[in-house]
Amino acid sequence: MSLTQILAKKTVFVQAQVIINAVVVIAKMEGEIKKNNIPEGDTIVAIATPPGKGGIGIVRISGVHAIDIAQEIFIKNRTNRDPKVSFGRKDSHRMIHGYIINKHLNQIIDEVLICPMVGPKTYTREDVVEIHAHSNQGILNDILDITLQEGANMAQPGEFTKRAFLNGRIDLTQAEAVMDIINARCHKAREIAAKQITGELKHLLHQIRENIEQAMAVIEMGIDFIEVENNDCLLENNVSHQWRKNILEPITDLVNGSKTAIMYKEGVQVAIVGKPNVGKSSILNRLIQKERAIVSEYPGTTRDIVSESIDINGIIMNLVDTAGIHSTRNTIEKLGIIKSQEAIEKADIVIFVTDSSRENDEADYKIYELIKNKTIIWVQNKCDLVSSNTVTFDTFKNSGIKVSALTGLGIEEIRNEMIKTVMLDDVSEQENYLISTLRQKKCLKDACTYLSQAITGYENGIPLELIAMDFKEGRQKIDEITGNHYHGDLLDTIFSTFCVGK
Ligand code: GDP
Repeated sequence: MSLTQILAKKTVFVQAQVIINAVVVIAKMEGEIKKNNIPEGDTIVAIATPPGKGGIGIVRISGVHAIDIAQEIFIKNRTNRDPKVSFGRKDSHRMIHGYIINKHLNQIIDEVLICPMVGPKTYTREDVVEIHAHSNQGILNDILDITLQEGANMAQPGEFTKRAFLNGRIDLTQAEAVMDIINARCHKAREIAAKQITGELKHLLHQIRENIEQAMAVIEMGIDFIEVENNDCLLENNVSHQWRKNILEPITDLVNGSKTAIMYKEGVQVAIVGKPNVGKSSILNRLIQKERAIVSEYPGTTRDIVSESIDINGIIMNLVDTAGIHSTRNTIEKLGIIKSQEAIEKADIVIFVTDSSRENDEADYKIYELIKNKTIIWVQNKCDLVSSNTVTFDTFKNSGIKVSALTGLGIEEIRNEMIKTVMLDDVSEQENYLISTLRQKKCLKDACTYLSQAITGYENGIPLELIAMDFKEGRQKIDEITGNHYHGDLLDTIFSTFCVGK
């Protein structure tokens, strides 16, 4: 290569870098959503604490008139009601003692602590006022009523969090995590939601998005310079290897971790499966420590699905006692067996119960054929009786857990085995157990499809214009997760699942 050629190539690189930076800036601007499309002047109010008796009940107001409304309904001194309270900046984020008053009736409703908070350092980024009253539904309703009379509007479910999102304080992953943390049924689910609320997923996705934009800039540069220089220089940089590493790998990690995260959140599906009369219902009852399923010496008693949830070491196990699977002419039993097969399909773990006092027979093997691709915990029940079973199933190395549902022997071992099966790693150490909704997972999978198509296309010399389109689609899918891009009823769908006041 001549010196002029080298210099020409260098110049191309310098120009390219300038263009990369410019394209990144423009792409960032394109990606921004229009924040704050809340009607001006709309101030909302709701009772933020659950109904029922309690120490404190909170009414929350948010919006441009929140402070004005609070000033109208609050007095500091119950004997001298005249001086109008005026909350200034110095009062922001402080608890102030006083009384909520219905001025029209000159009636004190409750003695309260009021906390005026001037935006933007608030939950919604608007002015927010929280009134901490006594938790009596009548009192809270009266406070709600007078704020409505003063011009506030009743908040929709999740509207406070929706405003926090629309005003740019949190992204959609954080908003979804708010609901997850409220609904979390076990500490693992809470841990994952807490990580999301602090924005760990948001920051990771932000980084991935930046990497996509860098890649898009390289592609744009290739399109612009294709006439001047062939794009060998780009390939020399081994860029596609970089893209796989800093775009595809983190996305794949997130998708892989999502199964565990969703399992922690929704609970682990466990189906108890076996022939009639082997002791499935007895084992369920032992595991949940109460008489939930009917135990009977007559085969075929469990004709429907019986399900119960238990918390084992902080993980929710949704146990399903299935109807015994066997051939039958009885229509109701047949329906039960169909439901059992559905439960097997959905199960993360199958507890396969056999009767250790009898030889495994054809019916056991038929059931085994049905479940052999699942994660199985094999339980040899009735071990209090004389064992006559020496035959194992081909893929089991050992002879299953010896259990007696009658005496309780081996039940603890089943619990331990269930935990061992799901506890792959500790969540706190696993950075990427962060995707916890099916919506997020679907977007990520779609993003992965587009982006790997783009990268493979680049490696195979597909026209750069087509690759640019795939990168753009991939970026849009990432934006859908964070809410940087959304369409239609997505926000309504997400926030309608919230409670009023959150
Ligand atoms: P399922 O049809 O598989 O749900 O079985 P059940 O739990 O209804 O139990 C069937 C019969 O076996 C009942 O008479 C139970 O009392 C009895 N049984 C269940 N587990 C044991 C056990 O561990 N030892 C003995 N000896 N009997 C059991």
